Amino acid sequence: MNYIVRGIFWIGLYLLLVLAPLFVLLLVPAPPGTGFVNDLSLALGFAGAAMMAVMFVLTARFKRATAPFGIDLIYYFHRQIALVAVLFVVAHPVLLLVNDPGLWPYLHPAVSPLYLDAGIGSLLALLALVGASLWRKRFGIHYDGWRLWHLILAIVSLALAIYHVRGFGYYVNMPWKHGLWTLIALSCLLIVLYVRLLKPAQLLRHPYRVTAVEQERGDAWTLTLRPEGHAGFTFEPGQFAWLTLWHSPFALKEHPFSLASSAEERQQIRFTIKELGDFTRRIGTVQPDQLAYVDAPYGAFSIDRLQAPGYVFIAGGIGIVPIISMLRTLADRRDRRPLTLIYGYSSWERLTLREDLEALQQRLQLKVVYVLGEPHAGWTGETGMLTTELLARHLPPEKTELDYLICGPVPMIHAVERSLSACGISLMKIHSELFDLV
Ligand SMILES: Cc1cc2nc3c(=O)[nH]c(=O)nc-3n(C[C@H](O)[C@H](O)[C@H](O)COP(=O)(O)OP(=O)(O)OC[C@H]3O[C@@H](n4cnc5c(N)ncnc54)[C@H](O)[C@@H]3O)c2cc1C
Repeated sequence: MNYIVRGIFWIGLYLLLVLAPLFVLLLVPAPPGTGFVNDLSLALGFAGAAMMAVMFVLTARFKRATAPFGIDLIYYFHRQIALVAVLFVVAHPVLLLVNDPGLWPYLHPAVSPLYLDAGIGSLLALLALVGASLWRKRFGIHYDGWRLWHLILAIVSLALAIYHVRGFGYYVNMPWKHGLWTLIALSCLLIVLYVRLLKPAQLLRHPYRVTAVEQERGDAWTLTLRPEGHAGFTFEPGQFAWLTLWHSPFALKEHPFSLASSAEERQQIRFTIKELGDFTRRIGTVQPDQLAYVDAPYGAFSIDRLQAPGYVFIAGGIGIVPIISMLRTLADRRDRRPLTLIYGYSSWERLTLREDLEALQQRLQLKVVYVLGEPHAGWTGETGMLTTELLARHLPPEKTELDYLICGPVPMIHAVERSLSACGISLMKIHSELFDLV
């Protein structure tokens, strides 16, 4: 309930921030209208610019604001609302040009005043930013480079948009209305300073020390970290952290990983990381005693947010990590509720954390169903994909009362969500974690 009230508060604040500049600009003395289409075009332009400014707030990872939703949902919202903002911003000149073809010559930089060039520049930067984000994987753009350019283009686009608004002047006809846009620009600048300087400085002052690096099945490694000279943080099992290794936090080279340890374990935290790309393939070379930086906790994928008489966990591959954190926590809390884990992986040999799961079965009311994609000779358990029929075979009789937590490859998650729905499970009881924020 607490999260619902806080969620409503933050949604209200978001709407206020986006709409306020529009209404304030129309306050007394309101400039006379210039016809419906022109006014609509200007309203869309203002709303689009305000939405662009609020994107800086959305992606600054303010813990209080993101906690009710989970940062992954905020990023999802950011991606979707950015498309709406682009639509508004594109509609702004299009409506003006359609309504008054006499404006077309002003598109030529030699004729147009600087504030108009700034508007065009802002639009082009925004289109480049959104295009690169939508097709980053298809174009093979490296994540780190994309992230840097995303920030640069966002700052350029917003700065040019604000210059455009102030230069045009018609709707900012009073000094205090001018001041409002200066304030918006300053707020965004402060947020960038917070993200690039203040937050990294905080992380630098609260380092972690690697105490163990252990190889796991399935090309994975478990890192154990201890807070160095501070108390660490508390978290809900299933949440994740941004981990920085080999760099200072100022480099902004952090990667998201679920916390693998029990939320009841206060002295240390653990991550289990699968080798995949540039960063994760180096995990095995981490040295015990090395420093690390951890920005946490984030995410809303947790049993602590669900009051259920029992849980069904469904994991694919490395998606086992947030689930093992929840199982470890339940074991430490001596929880006796019935639990089912359906865990799919390619082979018996590659089943990451298999031995840990077997040990947890001794401490919990936990039924584990392994599903192998490439079973070895003599395997008598489940094989193949996590189909509706397979799930139906293993869901407990009280299946409609339980909560379901799924983590794994994105196509698997979508297929399992559809299968659970086909098994009569309410969508409200299905919770998924995607290892893919961007
Ligand atoms: C909430 C969450 C929890 C996760 N938990 C785990 C876990 O417990 N164990 C595990 O092995 N993996 C986990 N991942 C996945 C892990 O973050 C990526 O595999 C890792 O960042 C890939 O980096 P790379 O340079 O090795 O691979 P690359 O080949 O460079 O990247 C592969 C893809 O990972 C994403 N990615 C890369 N770098 C970043 C970054 N800095 N920030 C965000 N996304 C990035 C991009 O979509 C990229 O296309 C999690 C991801 C998320 C979003």
